Parts: sequence; structure tokens; C-alpha cells
Amino acid sequence: MQNKQILNGFESLRAIFFDMDGVIYDSMGNHAIAWSKAFGYLGWDFPLEKVYMNEGRTGSSTIHLLYQEKLGRQATDEEIEKIYGKKSEYFDQMPKSKPMAGTLKLMERVKFAGIEIWVVTGSGQDLLLEELCSDFFGLIQKGRIISAKDVKHCKPNPEPYLTALARSGYPAGKVVVIENAPLGIEAAKAAGIYTIGVNTGILADEILWNAGADVVVKKMAQVEDFIFSN
Ligand code: MG
Repeated sequence: MQNKQILNGFESLRAIFFDMDGVIYDSMGNHAIAWSKAFGYLGWDFPLEKVYMNEGRTGSSTIHLLYQEKLGRQATDEEIEKIYGKKSEYFDQMPKSKPMAGTLKLMERVKFAGIEIWVVTGSGQDLLLEELCSDFFGLIQKGRIISAKDVKHCKPNPEPYLTALARSGYPAGKVVVIENAPLGIEAAKAAGIYTIGVNTGILADEILWNAGADVVVKKMAQVEDFIFSN
């Protein structure tokens, strides 16, 4: 398989960088509805597909984007606070997102193989990050999470993934990224890391390929097969 050559058959794999929403948690449906409702409060249309296309941005970056499109300017701090507050309120009203099917099993196998598990997410909510450590107790540890708070620039900027490389101490060639979002894939590829696109959302596979994914699959179980058969 041609992918084998890229990582020497993954034999030298030392760490896997997991994105959170849409990879670790089946949470994108909730986020998309919450964003649409939050902008709906201003009378602005933010269709679900557009939420998925912009996934990976921080909350403020998403709000700036819409203000730029609608009003030709950035949002003020008060506007960001208001819209992000609405978005969080709607999100919190929804049932808690479940872990993505297949992720726990993959992580257990990854840990058993002696490969480190890191999380690289645009989210910065303390509660969510704490839940992450308890939902995946023994697999995810606080010191191996790169969140919105650790970086100046969010995805699609490579900074979150470059930060994870620096903290882990591994070169890009010994790491694999698992991402569901086009901007996340762009960020990982710009950091020079082999990237598995797992298309758990509503976008066409082609969008993940076009973002630069090295391979695109539909489910976490296929990610597991791909990593451990290479
Ligand atoms: Mg994601």
C-alpha cells in the first residue's frame, strides 16, 4: 500500500493527535444546531453545512467571519460575548454528546501499542475538557490536550498541531492526525503531519480529500483497521 511508505508502515508511530468534536465525541450535530440558532437570534442564516465547513475555528473566529460577511467588519467583544453566550446556552440545553462509536476501542488499542494519545481541539471550555479526561479516564490526560487556550491562531492555522508536536517532542513523521473537518485537515497538513480524514459529518468526502487528507474513511472502526493493518 502506498501509504505504508509514508510512515514506514506506521512502525515508527509514536503519537496520535485526535481532534475532539466529530472524532472523539459525536457532538457536531449539536454544535451545528446551536450555532444556527445563535445566529438566527440576529436574523442571520448560518446553514448547517456552513457550520461543518468552518468547524475547527474558535468561537470568536466563527463570529468574526459572519460579521465580516454580513456587515463588512469584525465583531466587537460585546457582540462576541453575546453570540457565543447564546451558542453555549443552546448547546448546554441539548443532551450531552456521546463518545463517537469506535473511538474508545481505538484509543485502548493505541495505548496498548505504546502510542501516545494527544487531543488537539479548537474548544476552550474548561468543563468540556474536564469531561474529556473523565470520559476517557486512563486514556486522555490533561497535559496532553492542546486547546484554544494554548494557541494564538486556531485551525486552519497549523499552530495547534505545531504546538502538539513541540510539546510531545516527536517529529511530524512519527505522528498521525485524525480529523473530521476540512479546516482541521488543512491545519494538520500545513504542520506536515500524515492526516486521516474521518468523515463523520454531512459534508461530501471530496471536501476532505480536497483539504489535503492522506486518506478518507467513514468511521472510527475503519481508522483502527487502517492504522493497525499498515
Ligand atoms: Mg472536529
